[in-house]
Amino acid sequence: AAASCYRGRFAPSPSGPLHFGSLVAALGSYLDARAAGGEWLLRIEDVDAPRSVPGATESILRTLDAFAFQWDGEVLVQSRRLDRYHAALVRLQLDGEVYPCACSRREIADSVVAASVDGGHVYPGTCRAGLGDGRAARSWRMRTADACIGFVDRVQGAQAQNLERELGDFILFRADGQFAYQLAVVVDDADQGVNAVVRGADLLASTPRQIWLQQRLGVPTPTYAHLPVATNAAGQKLSKQTLAAAVDPVRGVAALVEVLAFLGQEIPQGLAQASLAEFWSWAIAHWSMARVPSRQAQVLV
Ligand code: GLU
Repeated sequence: AAASCYRGRFAPSPSGPLHFGSLVAALGSYLDARAAGGEWLLRIEDVDAPRSVPGATESILRTLDAFAFQWDGEVLVQSRRLDRYHAALVRLQLDGEVYPCACSRREIADSVVAASVDGGHVYPGTCRAGLGDGRAARSWRMRTADACIGFVDRVQGAQAQNLERELGDFILFRADGQFAYQLAVVVDDADQGVNAVVRGADLLASTPRQIWLQQRLGVPTPTYAHLPVATNAAGQKLSKQTLAAAVDPVRGVAALVEVLAFLGQEIPQGLAQASLAEFWSWAIAHWSMARVPSRQAQVLV
């Protein structure tokens, strides 16, 4: 049983095997939870069905297990929770917080010049007041407001975003019939009672959208810690798309120690030769979020 109210999670997308970047999020979230005497839940984020790879979930769970990560409770799988996302969307529809949108990516790109915080274009609100003649709904968008959404990240410090100006109304239900990650993650964190999120800084710019959704849905906002993102020699984020190498659990503690060093922790002599049990008890006892750097200068392959 947990000795505190801390409840964290690791939420990998099954787009491929665990790689260094995902192990950073796994280890950081795990140590932070265990050091606080809290719980650590596991969630498979396969809501984006087109990007899920068969066998990846099993491979991720096998790798975590081989490293002796211990998760609490059942593994939550997003593809089995579509009814929950649907219920949240219906609630937002009834509250008038979302509206149907007919715009294609092309139309939006052609109509505006402003780049958005997520690397796309700021949505100009074309369909806010209605679809217009003969235009069919493709997606559902969340209304934003011209207001500052701020939070203090435990690693990255104070953050602020004006959703309407920097992003525009954002999609919750996609033209391809899938629920957006932003909706699923908020519903899941709330349903699982997660109150501490530790994940990669590639999601930093998504956090104000998630806080906005939490407020609209009347669920609590967790604390956030966004860990430095591991990049390859070309400076790209390690991911399936950049062909990041899978982590080999046969390397055992040596692989975990590399991640611990990446997270700025001071590594004692000989830790890489320790057993998994010795590694975990040392790492949990000495975990310090204060040592985690906001960015990583070090380049990894
Ligand atoms: N599924 C996301 C990823 O693998 C993580 C989402 C989150 O931690 O909120 O990048």
